[in-house]
Amino acid sequence: MSATAETLAISTETREFLSRTHKLFINGQWVDATSGETLGIIDPATEAQISEIQLASTDDVDKAVIAAQAAFKGEWSKINSHQRTKLMLKLADLIDENIQTLAELEVLDNGLPMMLAEYTISGYASDFIRYYAGWCTKIHGDTIPVSPAGVANGESLTYTRREPVGVVGAIIPWNAPIAMLALKLAPALATGCTMVIKPAEITPLTALKVMELVKEAGIPDGVVNLVPGYGEVAGAAISSHPDIKKVSFTGSTAVGQKIVEAALGNLKKVSLELGGKSPVVVFPDADIEAVTMGAIRAAFFLQGQNCMAGTRLFVHQDIFDQVIQNVAGVASQMKIGPGLDPSSQLGPLISADQRSRVMSYVQAGKDEGAELICGGNQLDRKGFFMEPTLFTHAHQDVKIAREEIFGPVLFAQPFGDSDLETIAAEANKSIYGLSGSVWTKDIAVGLKMASLIDSGQVSVNCHAAVDPAIPFGGNKMSGWGREFGQEGLEPYLKTKATTVLFSQPPF
Ligand code: ADP
Repeated sequence: MSATAETLAISTETREFLSRTHKLFINGQWVDATSGETLGIIDPATEAQISEIQLASTDDVDKAVIAAQAAFKGEWSKINSHQRTKLMLKLADLIDENIQTLAELEVLDNGLPMMLAEYTISGYASDFIRYYAGWCTKIHGDTIPVSPAGVANGESLTYTRREPVGVVGAIIPWNAPIAMLALKLAPALATGCTMVIKPAEITPLTALKVMELVKEAGIPDGVVNLVPGYGEVAGAAISSHPDIKKVSFTGSTAVGQKIVEAALGNLKKVSLELGGKSPVVVFPDADIEAVTMGAIRAAFFLQGQNCMAGTRLFVHQDIFDQVIQNVAGVASQMKIGPGLDPSSQLGPLISADQRSRVMSYVQAGKDEGAELICGGNQLDRKGFFMEPTLFTHAHQDVKIAREEIFGPVLFAQPFGDSDLETIAAEANKSIYGLSGSVWTKDIAVGLKMASLIDSGQVSVNCHAAVDPAIPFGGNKMSGWGREFGQEGLEPYLKTKATTVLFSQPPF
C-alpha cells in the first residue's frame, strides 16, 4: 500500500493545532471574524478537510489597520533599532524551534515534500528574518553638500532621514506560504513599519502558527496582524485601504494589475512579484548531468508552482536529444506522493482547480502539435497529483510556450549555431522577465548571455539562485521593484530631507 497522509504520523502539537477553528490575529489577540464565514482547509494530498479558518471581512481589515496604526505611532515607534534586531532574532529562533510543527503544517496545507518544507523554514524563512534583523541598525540617511538660496558654502546643513512608510499590507500566495510570509515580514519589521498580512485563503496554517511565535517573541501587540480571507474581500480591502501606505504582493500578474488599480485611491506604494516563464539556455559544452538535474529542479520544484520556474528549456541542437532523453528519464522516475512520505519527490498540486487548469494546458500542447515526451497524466488516486510533463516543439508558437502554467509542465526547444543575440531574442520572447539560467563551461558565453537575458535574475550553471542578500524581482510583466537584499528595504522607507540655514540668504 502506498503511503497516504492519514497513514503518516504527525505530531500531537500539529494535530491539536489542526483541530482548532482559527480566528484572526489582530492587536495581539485572537479575535472572531465579523463575517461569521469559515473556510475548510484541504490537504491536497488526500482531499480531506484538515482544519478550518474564519474569514476576514472588510470591517476586520479596518480593525487590523487601526491596530497597526496605533502600534506604529505608539509602542513600536519608541523601540530602538537594537531592540528590533533582538525581537527579530528571537522570532527567527522560535521559528527554528518549532520546525516540526511548522513543516508538518506546511506540507499538509500546501502539499510540498517534507524536505523542501524544512528547507523553506530553517534554510530560508528564519534566515531571511535574521538577515534583515542585521539591517535594523544600518538604515540611515545622508548629509548633502548644498547652498540653498545662494547661501555661502558651509552656511547650511541638509540631511536626510529614512523613515518607515507606516502601515504595510502584505498579500501572500499559496505556493510557498511560510517563505513568502518571512520575506514580507522581515523588511517591514527591520524598517519599523507595522503590518496587516493576508495569507492565501487556502494556505493560512503556517502564518497562523507564526503569529503565536510573533506574540511569544515579544513583538508588541498590533505590529503584526493577520487577516486570513478571500482575495476579492480581504485582499481588495487591503489594496484599497486609505491608511495602508504600501502593499507588497506576490502572486499572479492578473491579480497584481487589480492591486495597482485598487492602490490608486491613496497612491500607496506597490511592489509586485508576479508571474514568470523563465528560460533555461543550454550550450553544447555544458555539463550534461548538471543540466539534467538543474532542468528538473528548475521546472518541477514545488510541482512547478513556482514563479521562478524554468519552464522554457532551450538546448543546442548537438545535445538536444541527449538532454531531453535524460530529463525525461529522471522525470518519469520521480516519486510522486504525499509530502509527509519522506520518499516523495513531487507532491500534489494545490487544488482540483489548479490541476484542471494545468491539465488543460497539457491538452492544448497536444492539440497544437507539440510532442509529448513524458508525463501528461493526472494520477488515478486521491489527491491532486499529476506526472511531471515534458513537451518539445520546434517553435514557441504554442500556448504552452507562451503562458505561465504554474504546474509541472516543461517546454523544450532546440537552437542552432546562431549568435548569442539571436539565441537571447528567442529566450526573451515572453511577456515575463523574472528569472533565467545559462549553462556553459565558457565563462565569456555565460556572462554575455546572462547580460542579454531580460529578467531580474539570471544564474549561470544553476537556476534561480536564492539568498536573502540577492535582489529578487521581475522585469516586464513579472513585476515592480525588488525584494531581498538592501534594495528590498527601499519600498518600506521614505526619505525626509531637512535643511537648516546658519545665515540668511543674500536675496
Ligand atoms: P490564484 O489564487 O488565483 O493563483 P494569486 O496567486 O494571484 O491568485 O493569489 C495571490 C494572493 O492574492 C492570494 O492571497 C489571494 O487571495 C490574493 N488575491 C486574489 N484576488 C485578489 C484581489 N482582487 N485583490 C487582492 N488580493 C487578491
